[in-house]
Amino acid sequence: MTKNILRTVNGDVTSDTLGLILPHEHLFVDLRGPQVDGYGQGEPEAVARLLRPALQAAEAAGVTALVECSTIGVGRNVRVLRHLAQVTPIRIIAPTGVYREAYIPAELRDLSVAALADLWVKELTEGIEGTGVCAGFIKIAMSDNGPTPLEERSLKAAALASRRTGAVIASHTIGGAAARREMDILEAAGLDLGRFIWVHAHTEPDMTVHLEAARRGAWVEFDAIGAANWFPEQSRLVDFTVNLLDAGFGGQILLSHDAGWYEPGQPEGRPADGVRGYTALVDEFLPALRARGADESVVRRLTHDNPARAFSL
Ligand SMILES: [Zn+2]
Repeated sequence: MTKNILRTVNGDVTSDTLGLILPHEHLFVDLRGPQVDGYGQGEPEAVARLLRPALQAAEAAGVTALVECSTIGVGRNVRVLRHLAQVTPIRIIAPTGVYREAYIPAELRDLSVAALADLWVKELTEGIEGTGVCAGFIKIAMSDNGPTPLEERSLKAAALASRRTGAVIASHTIGGAAARREMDILEAAGLDLGRFIWVHAHTEPDMTVHLEAARRGAWVEFDAIGAANWFPEQSRLVDFTVNLLDAGFGGQILLSHDAGWYEPGQPEGRPADGVRGYTALVDEFLPALRARGADESVVRRLTHDNPARAFSL
């Protein structure tokens, strides 16, 4: 059995020490943008207090590792992540990278592709902001009709940093048209699409487009599990998964909640709709998938083998 190495906030771990891995969640998010007073600030203890019930419930549900997808510019706070990693046994994987154009901090907007890639490689291999806590993957994001030119720079820098480190690139991408454009750019930059995750692939309703991305080698991530008020309905997420399984692409599916989180600027950091937890995959989605014929080897593949391989360095 090949051992995958995952780079967590507490250091590297081999995937055989882990069970269920959630590839897209949030612990600390600040969507007010990096120009706002108090941006990205929060007391680590207060964050832990707010998230403790959700993390304990996740642990009880069998979650052993969680990928934090909040990038530079939307509140990534390495002090907070380091504290959380001390108070939960769940392993946390931190990102390098930037979010959509509107959230890219001023000091990063004029960097060349090579300079941006250098920063991300440094965060992946030496540590973030002088802490020695390393990022474990590259998270970027496209505007809805993107990529914009600045987001194209993110794609090229991500491809370069991934090729130098092996880190996977997870990109927030709404709809198949944008996904196609970014896969073209990444391939032209020499990236094997096996190192690319189409984040929010469930926003594309046409299942043939999921197949097209899988055929090109990409990871296809359905990460709105438990988000009852989001598009599409939860039952469609099961349909999308079964469609890829039936077509033989079970080794390229990722499943997560995109849930959480502490939000600076809100009373006690509590998001307006409350903290959405990390257990709907186990409590609701997997039972629905089993009812459609998935056995335990498929469940293990989707919840452990796939995220372990995707996030392996
Ligand atoms: Zn997210």
